[in-house]
Amino acid sequence: MSRQQEVDITCPGCGFTGRFVIWDSVNNVVSPEAAQKLIDGSLFLYECPNCGEKNQVHYACLYHDMEHRVMVQLVSDTEESVEKAFETYDKLMDDDIVKEIGYSSGYKHRLVTDINSLREKASILRDELDDRAVELMKLIVLARNADNDQIPAGARSYYVCLDEDSGLVLEFVSDEGAVSASVDREMYDSLAELVREREPEDKGLRFIDSQWAYEFLSER
Ligand SMILES: [Zn+2]
Repeated sequence: MSRQQEVDITCPGCGFTGRFVIWDSVNNVVSPEAAQKLIDGSLFLYECPNCGEKNQVHYACLYHDMEHRVMVQLVSDTEESVEKAFETYDKLMDDDIVKEIGYSSGYKHRLVTDINSLREKASILRDELDDRAVELMKLIVLARNADNDQIPAGARSYYVCLDEDSGLVLEFVSDEGAVSASVDREMYDSLAELVREREPEDKGLRFIDSQWAYEFLSER
């Protein structure tokens, strides 16, 4: 199920108070249009009806990809919110009914603290990729291109979509703007195999991000 609510919102540009729809949860099967808006970012964009200014609005949102049995929770980037997310998750998983229906089995759970990462996870799921392999690939590509002028140092990388040869299109974002590059499918496939071998069970609520990828590669 998807849940939404309308709230008052004040434009930082002109001070006009308008209404904005917040999606507490988005189910991609029940609400495919909202899922598309989550991926393109417009679900988090408020356009002031008075002055037209657009502002990004960060709010907690649960993305439920029912097709691929994955839940991605977006929370704010504070220690408190992250702790609470883990607590809520543990409580939920401890519930007898949840245990009985075997809800947790076969489901993957992810935690993210920024909108772009939520959008990225939803895109990865849409394209039937393993987000662990994508994170490993991003880290390796960034390391290999450390001397490449095209990709600015300290850039953050995001998966965008598949190209026509099933290669993975990545975007490197920095203060200087965004650069896109395609990475061969073979590299992704071998990393996906590696991650499946070394981590066949994908359990619990987890951050699968560059930090995770770094630790995974360091353990070898
Ligand atoms: Zn305004």
